[in-house]
Amino acid sequence: MLHIQENIKYILQRIEKACIANNRDPQEVQLLLATKTVPAARIRLAIEAGQTLLGENKIQEIKEKYDDLLDLKPTNHFIGHLQTNKIKDILKYDVTCIHSIDRLDLATKLHQRLTSKNKTMEVLIQVNTSNEESKFGIAPEDALALIQEVAQLDTLRIKGLMTIGLFSADEAQIRPCFQLLKNIQQQAKELHLPNVEMKELSMGMSGDLEIAIAEGATIVRVGTAIFGERLYPDSYYWNENK
Ligand SMILES: *Cc1c(COP(=O)(O)O)cnc(C)c1O
Repeated sequence: MLHIQENIKYILQRIEKACIANNRDPQEVQLLLATKTVPAARIRLAIEAGQTLLGENKIQEIKEKYDDLLDLKPTNHFIGHLQTNKIKDILKYDVTCIHSIDRLDLATKLHQRLTSKNKTMEVLIQVNTSNEESKFGIAPEDALALIQEVAQLDTLRIKGLMTIGLFSADEAQIRPCFQLLKNIQQQAKELHLPNVEMKELSMGMSGDLEIAIAEGATIVRVGTAIFGERLYPDSYYWNENK
């Protein structure tokens, strides 16, 4: 239990340091706890330590932990790959933001479902900035077109962009991913689309949050550095099919 609290403290220090080093207000950067594989009892400790923004990768995991955490009123975001056949389920668990909108058919089906429920949803457009085939996200060159199309679906409130940086120890390879996302954000802002805010940049994880903050992250998604190593490779959790 102490570990989780200590780890959170340390992550908040890292965020603060990175903000100060880049002339940013630490208030501009939200910490999202990436809680895949973490049991509800451990997530509870993190929430009790003051962290209320959670992100899961699989509907099944939200479902399993939902009731156990309900009394703490966390804010639930969805950060995993979303299959269209799971849209119905995601609306059952008051997820307030989906970070992983990466194709029009997904956005359209989500819009249809939301329309029938008379609901709206905040979304981020996920961009595959590292161009790795194994990763989800719209190709950078197609991102603006997708943003314009999704902007026409009035139940979806586009709040910004999300990316997973290149897995590398080489900063010189990671940084361009985040710069690219920022760049797409600027271009999208210049379109002045109705229904599009383009305020959030969800980027940076345990290993690269300092670089992401330097490049403008407003949400960093941290799992390992708070909860410890996971048993399964991340690719397993990025595919809702499995
Ligand atoms: C697991 C995960 C994270 C957190 O990664 P860590 O390296 O454990 O901090 C962030 N974003 C997404 C989409 C994830 O699946």
